Amino acid sequence: MNESSFSILELSSELLDNLTSLGYAEMTPIQAQSLPTILAGRDVIGQGKTGSGKTAAFGLGLLARLDIEVLKPQSLVLCPTRELADQVAREVRRLARGMQNIKVLTLTGGSPLRTQADSLQHGAHILVGTPGRVEDHLRKRTLDLSGLTALVLDEADRMLEMGFQESVDAIIEQTPKARQTMLFSATYPSQIQSIAERVMIDPLLVKVESRHDSSTIQQHFYDVESDEQRLLGVRLVLMQYRPQSTVVFCSTKQQVQDIAAELRNHGFSALALHGDLDQRDRDQTLLRFANKSISVLVATDVAARGLDIDSLDAVINFHIARDAEMHVHRIGRTGRAGSFGSAHSFISDKEGYKVALLRDYLGHSIDSEPLPAASVLQQAPDKPAMETLLIDAGKKQKIRPGDILGALTGENGIPGAKVGKIDVFDNRAYVAVERDVAQAALNKLGSGKLKGRSFRTRILRGQPEKSSRQR
Ligand code: ADP
Ligand code: MG
Repeated sequence: MNESSFSILELSSELLDNLTSLGYAEMTPIQAQSLPTILAGRDVIGQGKTGSGKTAAFGLGLLARLDIEVLKPQSLVLCPTRELADQVAREVRRLARGMQNIKVLTLTGGSPLRTQADSLQHGAHILVGTPGRVEDHLRKRTLDLSGLTALVLDEADRMLEMGFQESVDAIIEQTPKARQTMLFSATYPSQIQSIAERVMIDPLLVKVESRHDSSTIQQHFYDVESDEQRLLGVRLVLMQYRPQSTVVFCSTKQQVQDIAAELRNHGFSALALHGDLDQRDRDQTLLRFANKSISVLVATDVAARGLDIDSLDAVINFHIARDAEMHVHRIGRTGRAGSFGSAHSFISDKEGYKVALLRDYLGHSIDSEPLPAASVLQQAPDKPAMETLLIDAGKKQKIRPGDILGALTGENGIPGAKVGKIDVFDNRAYVAVERDVAQAALNKLGSGKLKGRSFRTRILRGQPEKSSRQR
């Protein structure tokens, strides 16, 4: 058996089966190095760049050691921002999918204190929150951490940067001494070291190399003379490498729209992402891309900034980035979590100086290669693995991911393993399902009920502008 297989760990069959259904075939390096120790209950400090798989490392640890019978907060994960807390909660819920009735609650500025206090009253196993809000609850005595067995400080360096040191200290003060403490951070400045010394006991330090690892990102450069040739080049690269998820970086909104439209004309599943989309269309586009219902996202750097798009197979630079750092930042979005990625850049004579700067920055020569042969265009592009169903009901209607999963997989339903990401917003919810069962899933949701009611459901296709205009 492979030593990076999850099955060497002492995990329940529910957790292991679910990992398989999530497509987690092997542990990432940080998981392989930390999970045995985490499962043994020892304190761990994990250092690794974004995308190395830290959430599942601690998430599996929390889930494995949870006592489901005890409906009191047993684990607390502190994150620097509401967005990160939501992400962590989502990943933990995904990991917990095979387990019965695990309650994961987020405590952030995203919803009123009162509502959260009520939820806390009803009980929760795992809390994910920002230090400010968690401290508020402790102060108001709406939160009791006396039953805590595990504490996670996620993105600890950013929490400190954001000035949360005192809050974090105040929170730790109210947790039992006999707890497991895990600290994750992209960097390890001396401040983190001193926190670790104060709040951890004999921690194991696990450090993995940055994800900007040339061995996992294959870079290709192609000489071109015109934008038409770049566009052809994008199609050739997509057909030659057949990546499941690709971002094409462009410099202007107009380019983004033109290229996305052009790729759609040629049968690709491509959407445009630029600054002029309203929040909802932007969320929807990103969500469909992230859940694998869209294969190609054409974006400006600004629109893609700060986005954590996971597991990209390829990055295409329609034009080479303005500077070397931006180039490295762009291509660093592929090849994450120990997977392989490729980066493709089109360069013309006019961009010689940028190429020279990039060469100096990377410290190796940049050799261009011919474009893939035109014969690759004889085949049709692959369809994305998933399709997204939009349901006109969400949190306000008390719909939770489990309700949707239940409705889809009940009698005459589709297999749970064919259900992908589920995202619930205030008044709508999205669920990704494998393409071959999309119609069956739509029928099942259409004929059945969610929380005793029927809600309008449809399959999302094409640009979001269209689908929202239809409403
Ligand atoms: P980090 O917190 O280190 O930045 P995340 O925990 O957010 O990274 O993980 C990055 C991505 O990798 C997520 O989409 C996650 O679902 C995925 N991932 C994590 N572990 C694995 C694995 N073992 N196999 C495949 N994908 C994984
Ligand atoms: Mg993380």
